[in-house]
Amino acid sequence: MKIKEIYETMSYGPAPESDEAAHQFIKDHKGKFNLFINGAWVTPSSGEYFDSINPCTKKKLAKISEANEADVNKAVNAAKKALPEWIKIGSHQRARYLYALARQIQKHSRLFAVLESLDNGKPIRETRDIDIPIVARHFYHHAGWAQLRDTELKDYKEVGVIGQIIPWNFPLMMLSWKIAPAIAMGNTIVLKPAESTSLTALLFAEICKQIGLPKGVVNIITGHGKTGATLVDHKDVNKIAFTGSTEVGKIIRRATAGSGKKLSLELGGKSPFIVFEDADLDSVVEGVVDAIWFNQGQVCCAGSRLLVQEGIADKLYKKIRARMETLRIGNALDKSIDIGAIVSQEQLKTIKDLVKLGVKEGSTLWQPSWSCPTDGYFHPPTLFTDVAPSSTIAQEEIFGPVLVAMSFRTHKEAVKLANNTRYGLACSIWTENINLALDIAPQIKAGTAWINCTNVFDAAAGFGGYRESGFGREGGREGLMEYLKPRINDAFTNQPPKIVVNNTSGSNGQAQQDSEIDRTTKMYIGGKQARPDGGYSMVINGANGNYIGEVSKGNRKDIRNAVEAAHSCSKWTHRTGHARAQVLYYLAENLAIRKEEFANRIVQMTNQKKKDALLEVELSIERIYTYAALADKYDGRVHHTIHNNVTLAMPESMGVMGIICPDESPLLGFISTVIPAITMGNNVIVVPSEKLPFSATDFYQILETSDVPGSTVNIITGEKDELAKVLAKHDDVDSIWYFGDKNGCKEMELLSADNMKQTWVNYGKYRNWLDKEQGEGKIFLKKASQIKNIWIPYGA
Ligand code: NDP
Repeated sequence: MKIKEIYETMSYGPAPESDEAAHQFIKDHKGKFNLFINGAWVTPSSGEYFDSINPCTKKKLAKISEANEADVNKAVNAAKKALPEWIKIGSHQRARYLYALARQIQKHSRLFAVLESLDNGKPIRETRDIDIPIVARHFYHHAGWAQLRDTELKDYKEVGVIGQIIPWNFPLMMLSWKIAPAIAMGNTIVLKPAESTSLTALLFAEICKQIGLPKGVVNIITGHGKTGATLVDHKDVNKIAFTGSTEVGKIIRRATAGSGKKLSLELGGKSPFIVFEDADLDSVVEGVVDAIWFNQGQVCCAGSRLLVQEGIADKLYKKIRARMETLRIGNALDKSIDIGAIVSQEQLKTIKDLVKLGVKEGSTLWQPSWSCPTDGYFHPPTLFTDVAPSSTIAQEEIFGPVLVAMSFRTHKEAVKLANNTRYGLACSIWTENINLALDIAPQIKAGTAWINCTNVFDAAAGFGGYRESGFGREGGREGLMEYLKPRINDAFTNQPPKIVVNNTSGSNGQAQQDSEIDRTTKMYIGGKQARPDGGYSMVINGANGNYIGEVSKGNRKDIRNAVEAAHSCSKWTHRTGHARAQVLYYLAENLAIRKEEFANRIVQMTNQKKKDALLEVELSIERIYTYAALADKYDGRVHHTIHNNVTLAMPESMGVMGIICPDESPLLGFISTVIPAITMGNNVIVVPSEKLPFSATDFYQILETSDVPGSTVNIITGEKDELAKVLAKHDDVDSIWYFGDKNGCKEMELLSADNMKQTWVNYGKYRNWLDKEQGEGKIFLKKASQIKNIWIPYGA
């Protein structure tokens, strides 16, 4: 091409980055990588290796070890052995190691960037300017948290040995999101990278050696899904942190059910990119490029669903098509390309199949006029319009450079359309009206809301999902919690602290005629006392075996009615903390008036001394006061993120929660679980103690006279574990708390996997509800809420 022609077209030629240093790194390992266990390179017991491919050229880069069960054992043992010393060296020494890792990553940043682009196919522009700087930032940020752990987080301790499994889309970035907070908080780790992109993790292992990180603190084992599954199942792993598909996330949830392993899951998404008619459309177009063509669209939080206000839809589509025409696709090491290769042949096929299906389902496909290189796994940027909200491409995660567009008319419709997904990872909102943006952001069910920006990440802000996008956060103070456990947990016991339950309850048994009070309590649904659907009741006997009364025996239908009622009540969720506090104080006041009656009821059920029963009522009143006090004080933060952003971390309610109350302390156990849940704005379905239900059923009258909206607290009595199972399986329940035996806990974690509802269970351990440290506090509010990070960029 002549210079004159270049001036005319303004097109530029290739600007290749050298891959020499990266290939030298591979050569230094003789083209074959072993496992990094206990600070050394170890030959895999299986003796097997698989190929890592450059997706831009389909050429082999290196051989990677296949770790088997024996290797997983070795790595977990090394991490377990390293743990006591890693804890002992203390916060400051750990901070120094993290700082050294950050420095070393920066010093070798270009090597990391090139190796990542070679292995994954993503443009060097992205690895160099986005991925690797974020990696270094995570180690710096968490070096700070390591230093501050003993002062800022003194009520918490490390979890132990952590198993970490990461995907191929941001190999080193995901590694840093996992390893930095874990080791900063005093844990040791075993990490398995994705089979197709292990190389930068192996380079990171070398960095660990170079800085003299104590042996066994970080272990990297490579392999396929089976290696990951073996790590998940290992008995000495105390927590699993996973990023990947929702499908595998569900498998892991089920595999760890009942084991007591802590779990965080960062899964898929189908994030809405919402454009209102007053948005700056040229900025929107660049936003769309970043939302769906960044990393070839292989981004869990990709803005893959474009929702446009009807009046501007055609204008915006036209601008997007024009921009798509100018995008450059090619070898990842070319500094002037926008789009690289898809990670593997398999992933390319998945994308192509879904695109074909989109056409078949009647959507209109548009792709630029130019064609993709044929020497690698390339896919052109793709826009679908005329997409029905229920079509496969509008619902399924494509994980490729494919944008599906839909239009809406009103703000309400935009929210409805945005939430019409099983996922809830992120959303992006485009409008010049900040009031509108801040009105819409809390209404979208997603862990991150970007206003007039997209795909921005920082170590100081939490990232993670709602619904089937998983649970737990990575980054920010909230992310640290995934690698810590409250010290108070050590005080929990295997036996109830005070054994008061000594009675038996029988289904539909014979009512004793000599009872003083002959009454059958109804259930409480939607603010009304309701008869059980099944028409059965259960006899409740006191501690001496004496008949006290009967309760309704709830069934599946009653639970369904209660869930429906809970969903109908958005009033409570939208009240301010102050308004909720007023109602809670009123509840406490009304309970205080009936203190004697509630104490007598406890005596009747448990046969404990009246003075102990009075103490339980007193503590219940005090506990309600605590949460009333916290209602307007348990608030969010403004994170110090990089870039010009105000990043608001807002605790939001879970939505509809199921609460299975403990059997100990019949009134206090009920109050200690239900009150924090409603304090955070949730609507709840409560299953009171099966054996001692009357404190809860007596509480209806307190609820009715205290201005609690009718559907906020719904109470279903009956067989605890049967009702709990229905709640755990229910798709419209967002979270479940269960206090009961080990088997029940396992069931809850197993059954909740269907819609990935969040669970909080006691693994058969007992708290002393009478003890303030065990029975109340912010940990309850934390478990009753989830944090949404709202990013608001500024700058004139
Ligand atoms: P997977 O969820 O299968 O893989 C993620 C990680 O888990 C990999 O390291 C994988 O190993 C490992 N793994 C696979 N099966 C198991 C198991 N049973 N137990 C423990 N670990 C396991 O994602 P894929 O890589 O297969 O991608 C499939 C789809 O997932 C994509 O098309 C995309 O839709 C979605 N995805 C979402 C991501 C996100 O960030 N949310 C990231 C990546 C993918 P290995 O790769 O070696 O098999």
